[in-house]
Amino acid sequence: MSQFIDSAIVRLTSGKGGNGAASFHREKHVPRGGPNGADGGRGGDIVFVADRGARTLYDFKLRDHYEAPNGTDAHGNKSGKDGNDLTIRVPVGTVVFEEDGETMVDLDTDGASFVVAKGGRGGRGNLHFTNSVRQAPTIAENGEPAETVAVRLELKLLADVGLIGLPNAGKSTIVSACTASKAKIGAYPFTTIVPNLGVVSIGDVTFVMADMPGLIEGASEGVGLGVQFLKHVERTRVLVHVVDAFPLDGTDPVENYKTVESELAKYSEDLASAPRLIALNKSDLGPPGSTDPLAESLTGSGHPVFVVSAATGQGLQPLLYAAAEALAREDAKPKTTVVRPKAVDRLDDAWEIVSEGGTFIVKGKRIERAVEMTRLSNSESLRHLHRRLHRMGVIDKLREAGAEDGDNVRVGGFEFTFMEGR
Ligand code: GDP
Ligand code: MG
Repeated sequence: MSQFIDSAIVRLTSGKGGNGAASFHREKHVPRGGPNGADGGRGGDIVFVADRGARTLYDFKLRDHYEAPNGTDAHGNKSGKDGNDLTIRVPVGTVVFEEDGETMVDLDTDGASFVVAKGGRGGRGNLHFTNSVRQAPTIAENGEPAETVAVRLELKLLADVGLIGLPNAGKSTIVSACTASKAKIGAYPFTTIVPNLGVVSIGDVTFVMADMPGLIEGASEGVGLGVQFLKHVERTRVLVHVVDAFPLDGTDPVENYKTVESELAKYSEDLASAPRLIALNKSDLGPPGSTDPLAESLTGSGHPVFVVSAATGQGLQPLLYAAAEALAREDAKPKTTVVRPKAVDRLDDAWEIVSEGGTFIVKGKRIERAVEMTRLSNSESLRHLHRRLHRMGVIDKLREAGAEDGDNVRVGGFEFTFMEGR
């Protein structure tokens, strides 16, 4: 039995873009034709795809770094080849977090996909740099660099119907009594408690039912075992609150009901707002009809009450039908639109100038990238870069910051000497 892994950290490197070419038509009787340098190929993206067939994040324990192929360089007028995207299958219910903790995307439906690391674009060939004054440019770009990101994946167990209630209310027994096939899951990493999950077939409806062990007083403060597990059932759409009709400790079932409900409300508003069915369990322990007054008072909660016995199976069918109906109603509700960005834009336009030991350093993601894509060995490309920096206001800002002729300026890996008037 494989271990159930519910979180993983993965490093992903997209493909770098291929370099653009600087070349010119060569024809028999024409000494030097027009520019025809082609573009480099795009680097491969890394894409996560939610796939019903994937069940755990275990693969990421075996391998924690993935790389997409680079785009190839252009040669003359032949374009570079794009690197293939690398598609990584993850279980439905995988949530992708930035390393710093921010949620990137929630892959909660089969087939949902997300570009987690964007491949660099291919550098443009000199064909792109012609204009009315520049008819034979030798400018071509380097391919855009690759992107390496570290992400944390967290898998939420997807149960359609969750059973809540105090310990010993009979949750596990109900799941066993109701479920045909058990979706077996190995030792749970946090606790010795194995979530009891099963597939319920009732009429022509099938759904996953899970017992949510350890929801006890204090669980929302992290005291109980519940919190870790509850994380995985947040998406449960319908809750069955199991209430022991004859608690051994002599406590009042209605009070017990209230305790669990307030615990739930503290833990998660979302979960607490899920439709609720109440299963008043262990009815076999009293004479027929003895649970009626109790059922009556629980009805005051506004949720339908079902008198059941997990031991004898009495009352379970109506409960399951009601659960199936509640699920169908939830399914019919318009879904909240999930924001599914295609990719995170990690470049931003902001830049600043800092001065360090006599050197002025221009810092900014997009500006540094522009430098990285400049072929610094080509003087025309350099002039092009200078003009760009000028247009962006960098030269003016440098002057304001006190840069004088002869001072050293650095942008990314590029150093130049500041010259007034250039
Ligand atoms: P959980 O902690 O809510 O999962 O409760 P369990 O399913 O483990 O049940 C606790 C105890 O109550 C076990 O000894 C069960 O056999 C017993 N039990 C559960 N349901 C019934 C029931 O309907 N009738 C009777 N008599 N005992 C039950
Ligand atoms: Mg149990």
